[in-house]
Amino acid sequence: MHKNSKVQIIGAGLCGALLALRLGQRGYQVSVYEKRPDLRTVDISAGRSINLAFSDRGIKAMKLVGLQDKVVSLCIPMNGRMLHDTEGNTVFAPYSGRSHEYINSISRGQLNALLLTEAEALDNVQLYFNHKCTSVDFENGKSHFYQYEHKKEVIVASDIIIGTDGAGSAMRKSYYLGKKFLFSFSQDYLSHGYKELSILPNENGAFKAFKNALHIWGRDDFMLIALPNLDGSFTVTLFLSYDEGEYNFNNLTTPEKVLSFFEKYFKDALALMPHLPEEFFKNPTSPLGTVKCSPWHYKGKTLLMGDAAHAIVPFYGQGMNASFEDVVEFDKVLDESEEHATWEEIFTRYEKSRKKDTDAIADLAVDNFHEMKGHVNQPIFREKRTLETALEKHFPEAYSSKYSLVTFNENISYAEALERGRAQDKALLNLIADKDIVTNEHMDVADLKVILKKVQQATEEILIEDRVSKLGRKEV
Ligand SMILES: Cc1cc2nc3c(=O)[nH]c(=O)nc-3n(C[C@H](O)[C@H](O)[C@H](O)COP(=O)(O)OP(=O)(O)OC[C@H]3O[C@@H](n4cnc5c(N)ncnc54)[C@H](O)[C@@H]3O)c2cc1C
Repeated sequence: MHKNSKVQIIGAGLCGALLALRLGQRGYQVSVYEKRPDLRTVDISAGRSINLAFSDRGIKAMKLVGLQDKVVSLCIPMNGRMLHDTEGNTVFAPYSGRSHEYINSISRGQLNALLLTEAEALDNVQLYFNHKCTSVDFENGKSHFYQYEHKKEVIVASDIIIGTDGAGSAMRKSYYLGKKFLFSFSQDYLSHGYKELSILPNENGAFKAFKNALHIWGRDDFMLIALPNLDGSFTVTLFLSYDEGEYNFNNLTTPEKVLSFFEKYFKDALALMPHLPEEFFKNPTSPLGTVKCSPWHYKGKTLLMGDAAHAIVPFYGQGMNASFEDVVEFDKVLDESEEHATWEEIFTRYEKSRKKDTDAIADLAVDNFHEMKGHVNQPIFREKRTLETALEKHFPEAYSSKYSLVTFNENISYAEALERGRAQDKALLNLIADKDIVTNEHMDVADLKVILKKVQQATEEILIEDRVSKLGRKEV
């Protein structure tokens, strides 16, 4: 029955544009309503995560819609983290011991534009810009929009409506305010916000810092990161508390204070950012938070997807990748559903299989906030990373770090990556701390094999303990 449906998508961001393309390819009649003007004709990227880390789950989604080759030309590979200390010394830490595993820096605008162009090329996909959804009548399958160009309200009815309208979703708000069903919703802000800055290219257009890395200046309570852009610049993001610590967003109120903060903590970055004070006060400071909610769907009428259903903090570089994976998983449910399946059945199956994974990546992303700020600088974590890289290199089939499980193993669910990854981290850190494994430069493959066995055994024991304690919790 669902095959002949008219599908309405609210929000033509990364998830909405990909979803429109995929549902269009499947033959549905798709209408997409986007609040902003068409980003292919107007520059609207300022101050909003200009580039993103794009990895294997996102690439899998591009393969699904046949865009893997086009997307490669938008990507800059980042093979590892370039860690900068306060003196400006750097250490390169690969993301994986397997050389084919790396993440990419990609422009949000260019990727979004590509997806819109591909979706629009299909006769059965229509895009409407400058339409802001103000509310969704989810019981009757109608959305209310404010149309900016003609300054009027419009109401659009469809067989199903999918809300991909981002972290501040109007559809989610309508669920919440409607009070028609038991809708659970949580929004947890971090104490830290973020501000985007930049390192411009040299006069000859070259990168001022090493191109193929995600640069990190981790300082325990705050951090700076930089990702490369195709034009030779870097987008720099400062993550800092709003009101805690000696320096915070609320007290960085003068150019002198900003400069002394950077001089003290990010000396080498400051040397590449002569325009810092102007940019600092021109660009917005934005909050970071995690949104979880359920149910995502209302009967067979409406469904939330992407950030609208599960916004996460950006520290695993997975928000967009997870939103793309939503489309892959939804597509899989459509493939597996019978011809006569109803949308209610389809939405229920999708949410049942997907929610545990988006909850998992939300939690992993908060974990990584702490790892990136501080842990990466601690000797025990560095030892662990060095060891994991060696294990991945010498035993590519037998070992994957938590980071690799999340980032490079698109066929392992986030929930599984969380369970195994956390157990492995605990096992490794315990073994190193207890000196059950000792690492040095002279380790050969035979030594590493012994270490691998110990790590695997300790991980399995922790996994069994975790499963037993979960069983115990269920019995209570
Ligand atoms: C600082 C930062 C860094 C990040 N870095 C990464 C990263 O490195 N890797 C990664 O994978 N993810 C990253 N993310 C997360 C990523 O940006 C999001 O997960 C992703 O954009 C989600 O896509 P989406 O389409 O669901 O939402 P969005 O991209 O937010 O798109 C929502 C769309 O809906 C439109 N819209 C909103 N409200 C309405 C309305 N009322 N009516 C109509 N249209 C509406 C918006 O204009 C927008 O076009 C980062 C996020 C932040 C904040």
